[in-house]
Amino acid sequence: MNKTDHRIDAEAWPLKNRPARNAAIEAQVAALLGQMSLEEKVGQVIQADLASVTPEEARDYHLGSILNGGNSAPGGNNRAAPQEFLDLVDSFFRASTDKANGRTAIPIIWGTDAVHGHNNIVGATIFPHNIGLGAARDPDLIRRIGEVTALEVRTTGMDWTFAPTLAVVRDDRWGRTYESYSEQPDIIASYAGAMVEGLQGIPGTDDFLSHDHVLATAKHFVGDGGTEGGADQGDCRASNEEMRDIHAAGYPPALDAGVQTVMASFNTWHGRKMHGCREMLSDVLVGRLGFDGFVVGDWNGHGQVEGCTVTSAAAAFNAGLDMFMAPDSWKGLYETTLQDVRAGRISEERLDEAVARILRVKIRLGLFEAMPPKERAFAGDFSLLACDDHRTIAREAVRKSLVLLKNDGVLPIRAGSRILVCGEGADNIGMQCGGWTLSWQGTDNENTDFPNGQSVFAAVEDAVANCGGSVDLAPDGNWMEKPDVAIVVFGEHPYAEFQGDRDTVDYSSDAPLQMMKNLQAEGIPVVSVFLSGRPLWVNPELNASNAFVAAFLPGSEGAGIADLLVGDMAGNPRHDYTGKLSFSWPRDPMQTPLNVGDADYQPLFAYGYGLSITDSHVPVEHDESCALEVRGSYRLADLFIAGQARGGWQLLLAEDDGKALAINGPKVASASGLISVEAKDHKAQEDTRIATWKGPASLLISGPPTDFSREVNAQMSLIVTCRVVSPPAGPVMLTLKDGDGGEVQV
Ligand code: BGC
Repeated sequence: MNKTDHRIDAEAWPLKNRPARNAAIEAQVAALLGQMSLEEKVGQVIQADLASVTPEEARDYHLGSILNGGNSAPGGNNRAAPQEFLDLVDSFFRASTDKANGRTAIPIIWGTDAVHGHNNIVGATIFPHNIGLGAARDPDLIRRIGEVTALEVRTTGMDWTFAPTLAVVRDDRWGRTYESYSEQPDIIASYAGAMVEGLQGIPGTDDFLSHDHVLATAKHFVGDGGTEGGADQGDCRASNEEMRDIHAAGYPPALDAGVQTVMASFNTWHGRKMHGCREMLSDVLVGRLGFDGFVVGDWNGHGQVEGCTVTSAAAAFNAGLDMFMAPDSWKGLYETTLQDVRAGRISEERLDEAVARILRVKIRLGLFEAMPPKERAFAGDFSLLACDDHRTIAREAVRKSLVLLKNDGVLPIRAGSRILVCGEGADNIGMQCGGWTLSWQGTDNENTDFPNGQSVFAAVEDAVANCGGSVDLAPDGNWMEKPDVAIVVFGEHPYAEFQGDRDTVDYSSDAPLQMMKNLQAEGIPVVSVFLSGRPLWVNPELNASNAFVAAFLPGSEGAGIADLLVGDMAGNPRHDYTGKLSFSWPRDPMQTPLNVGDADYQPLFAYGYGLSITDSHVPVEHDESCALEVRGSYRLADLFIAGQARGGWQLLLAEDDGKALAINGPKVASASGLISVEAKDHKAQEDTRIATWKGPASLLISGPPTDFSREVNAQMSLIVTCRVVSPPAGPVMLTLKDGDGGEVQV
């Protein structure tokens, strides 16, 4: 990304006066700094990943922190029992406080991504991902979720969670959309402080960072949700005002609530990497907003800054990064940082400042007086994981997060009915939980990974028990006895960073849609439950459903879904739907970005939409179109495009600069160049994604209903999307053929 001359205007940010620092803590920080060697100081600013460090190394290099990142669990597996984690955390802490050789022992802090409950631990309560919580509009619920999460984290001896995410997501193609509460800043501002207080306790009270609380992290500072095209780690081109008023809206409330750490974001702002952006990390965050904790980098993010590598990052450090998240690169970074200080590339003052910030937080957390993790209050009390009280809050959160998009009267289902629960999500807790669950990219293998969770099927079965009804499970939709009603649970499979990015907001399903149509053809009403990390274009599925519930990624408490789907014997609701969309729902598969306030705002379901059972329902048919995608590097010169469409049609050859080249009728405008595909590594070598498209602008062919078949005389590789536009929609067949007449795989 090329840098522009965009100027960051720190003066435009509000100047916050924060309370004076505690004198006793300042004296302790100064005393410690006075005793520490240069090596000890450099070690403090480094955080290594569990997979790449031993307790002895952490001690010998005086490391400040350890994290268990996405794919690092004890023994390298992602099914770690809580006791294994507690043992590890304890052994690292004991090593760090081992005062052998007369060293100044500074206890380590342990960071984890507990982003929807303590989600790396088997058996923990898994809450809905943030997108669902946004629909609840309930800051008090958010606070209670923070409290439960902190307590469950404490059972494993850990002190710090990398949450909450305060991204304001403006383009739902981003694979991390579900980590965001809303496309709108006000919801995020109202939740940020509540979550921070739930996790950390309330500043100025005895509760603050007490033994049942943990450090919180406001992340990712800043602009993560505002990248062009929703690209992960992309470029945010917001103005100063948009950055302050939209993307950073959650930070002042998080700071007011005393958040102790802020994580720098991977994204750039007009080409400037946030990890190296002094104006934002130092002038704005510290100088204007008065942040008094420490800034931690994201996973090797320092290495992306101009002039830096993962093992040499003076520029990022000097810009205001206080602690490097240097998962596997920590040793090289330690050596280079030592040399940088000795050579004056990093001043001793800057090093002391960063170390002081880290020490201050460790003292506030009570780490210097703390027992080793295993001996602390709540440690090892794994009966707290998903205990009844915690599950009750998760269930409430699920109920409040569901948004009813359509109901022709089929809901609530009478408890005595014969119910078929079908679709691939029917009995799949991993799918309910999404990414950041037991492993970085999530898992949807086995319900046994969730010993304390309940699938939708299991929960519906419980809900109708003793009511004379019956519930059958048929993921493939094939029933033994004809049901009175079918619940089809379907949607996205788990994903996280990178792997979740997509080119359009089109959810094109074959199997679920066919299942719905088959059921309806037999006269069986269909209640759809859509599991997804974002709003997606589902018009065909909406039309094939009698009721449609957007469930987002509800987590481990399927009971919250059953509470709303199934009523009593007389068909009265036990609970009503209260969830309101915190993201706008697209009318069109290509309609992104889509945010309330846009000049041409025409969503299918507007921000804030959500029915209740008691609302009256006018059946609505939604426009349908078909979309096919071809990815790869085909040359158009080698392709034939052939298709048939009843209704209008458009053929869009899309490229990510957003421009479209209109083609009228059968003529094809010339386009040249070859779009190349680059893969980018992140974390694991095998995780690659399409990162960059280069080439000509989009090619758009549109016209009246017609059959067409022709050779395209242009050289480009492409994403091809063919869609039929209303009215009225009809079936589309699009096949792409190469020069020899063979079909290109779609
Ligand atoms: C993510 C962060 C996360 C960190 C540690 C990064 O890749 O961007 O949100 O906290 O990994 O797992």
